[in-house]
Amino acid sequence: MKLLRFGLPGSEKPGLQLEDGSRIDASGFGMDWNHDFFADPSNLKRLGDWAGKNADSAPKISEGTRLGPAVARPGKLICIGLNFSDHAAEAGMDIPKEPIVFFKATSAIVGPNDDVMIPRGSEKTDWEVELAFVVGKKASYVSREEALDYVAGYVLHNDYSERAYQLERGGQWVKGKSCDTFAPIGPFVATTDEIPDPENLKMWLKVNGETKQNGNSNKLIFGIAFLVSYLSEFMTLEPGDVVSTGTPPGVGMGSKPPQFMKPGDVVELGIEGLGSSTQTAVAWTR
Ligand code: ZN
Repeated sequence: MKLLRFGLPGSEKPGLQLEDGSRIDASGFGMDWNHDFFADPSNLKRLGDWAGKNADSAPKISEGTRLGPAVARPGKLICIGLNFSDHAAEAGMDIPKEPIVFFKATSAIVGPNDDVMIPRGSEKTDWEVELAFVVGKKASYVSREEALDYVAGYVLHNDYSERAYQLERGGQWVKGKSCDTFAPIGPFVATTDEIPDPENLKMWLKVNGETKQNGNSNKLIFGIAFLVSYLSEFMTLEPGDVVSTGTPPGVGMGSKPPQFMKPGDVVELGIEGLGSSTQTAVAWTR
């Protein structure tokens, strides 16, 4: 199934994207795609049954309706840094011996096609197409062998980054990762049955029509099962939490000369099986 959310910011409703690409309002199921929904894996099966009975009669979502973040505000948005060796090289950094883990403020999360706002005074706003996964069960000290049982689905994420805040202002990367609108998530969460091999998905990103990132999740240094197990050693992963697994090469920081975003730039990105999203850059306003 493909789970999405639609409507105005802050009052999104749950929906589903059907096989033919059409979208239906799933409010009738009675739950949003949030912690409580993912906490009980039987909800996914019940939702499948509901969709089987109601796909034809549920209200259609009209084209042009705003999509919200594909999951309701998660408890945690965790990111993995430098998880593609060729991206580490373009960033001028060593391949990490263990995963680099950082947080992104959940207040940065927006819908997949919402505008991205360049922070006040920012000169180094950059893009990062990423494969993210949604946690499906409370995970603490999970072994690698059982780790994938803890994943509910996969979703497209653009890990927008302000490089000066991230790398030139000291301390943790969180400063450059958390600005409002820096985490478009969606268009939909594809449940794991839809993505049999998450570590072999094409990933791409264009800026103003020009391809910047053209990668594949088969280049992940630390794979998804490893990451679930690894993270669960340091913190409890909770249902609905989102983990973003890192970006392939082709970010603005790595371009020669470096290229960063300006108002009016249009960023389009996608991952095989997970759809695509588009953000237009706008200048900061309060
Ligand atoms: Zn990233």
